[in-house]
Amino acid sequence: MSRFWSDIVHRLSPYTPGEQPAVAHPVKLNTNENPYGPSPRVLAALSAELGGQADTLRRYPDPTSRALHEAIAQRMGVHTEQVFVGNGSDEVLAHIFQGLLRHAEPILFPDVTYSFYPTYARLFEVQFTTIALESDFSIDVDAYRRPNGGILIANPNAPTGRALTLAQIERLLVANPDSVVVIDEAYVDFGAESAIALIDRFPQLLVVQTLSKSRSLAGLRVGFAIGHRDLIEALTRVKDSFNSYPIDRLAQVGAVAALDDVEWFDKTRHAVIATRETLTADLQALGFEVLPSAANFVFARHPDEDAAALAQALREREIFVRHFRLPRIEQFLRISVGTDAECKALIDALKTLVKVAS
Ligand SMILES: *Cc1c(COP(=O)(O)O)cnc(C)c1O
Repeated sequence: MSRFWSDIVHRLSPYTPGEQPAVAHPVKLNTNENPYGPSPRVLAALSAELGGQADTLRRYPDPTSRALHEAIAQRMGVHTEQVFVGNGSDEVLAHIFQGLLRHAEPILFPDVTYSFYPTYARLFEVQFTTIALESDFSIDVDAYRRPNGGILIANPNAPTGRALTLAQIERLLVANPDSVVVIDEAYVDFGAESAIALIDRFPQLLVVQTLSKSRSLAGLRVGFAIGHRDLIEALTRVKDSFNSYPIDRLAQVGAVAALDDVEWFDKTRHAVIATRETLTADLQALGFEVLPSAANFVFARHPDEDAAALAQALREREIFVRHFRLPRIEQFLRISVGTDAECKALIDALKTLVKVAS
């Protein structure tokens, strides 16, 4: 606390990212990183950009990230004016809060969802109302039929992993023609349907994606939004009032290379999906209840074991999973899908920790 702080700083409750452990070889299943590396073409593009010369970094990058806009537009089958790019989708979301969600009515999002949403709402002084998930942790889109200043839904939802169908999202859009509906698709490539298919019919729809998860580039910081050009213009106006160069030179070329390598993208995401199914079955065999996941993580609870104690016991074995001390989900563990070997290490450890009913 300091008398020099702005008023708003006293009221902030910053987001806490998952731990980046300092141990040498952790089994790291706590931040939904991709267990496989990015496409080899990304490294090649980064080397080519640097070209062995320190001089390359002397110049500012393209402030409009034009080549990256074109690569995203082409990959997603939209026009470049329907694309906004940011420094990770977290930054894209921040600009959305600032530019599109500050209205008289509160915005709506689920009570259990990505915990950055309430953090941004406080930072940007956006009123919000949370809508309770059903008892099976699914989203009832009809519960969002009420006056609002915008709707924000992660699909698949985090940390539950449960997905809405495209038909359910369409129903949400039809019921909410007059406020911005943001669908955060950070995990969509692991098993859900993208709402990008709906943007030409619904001018209030904004779809947000990231290269951090399915393209294994969390360290490069690239995310994007797709929507009607008027929504995109709002985000560009905010961006150009905040930082002209959010995407650095390496991020621009690396992201383009990742988007170009569809073969690598498909191979690695299908490997993650296959491991998720094995991991789910193995957890169930140990007595865990596992929510159906369309993401690169599973959300699981054990009827007889305390989740915080399990997370701590795993931590002592240098296996890291995520535990949230939050209402309704304090008995769950969120486990990122790792390699087959990492998931086996987790299951082997759990076998020694969990009492299995015989
Ligand atoms: C990981 C994640 C993001 C942020 O991704 P970045 O692009 O790395 O900032 C956004 N939304 C959800 C739901 C996420 O899980």
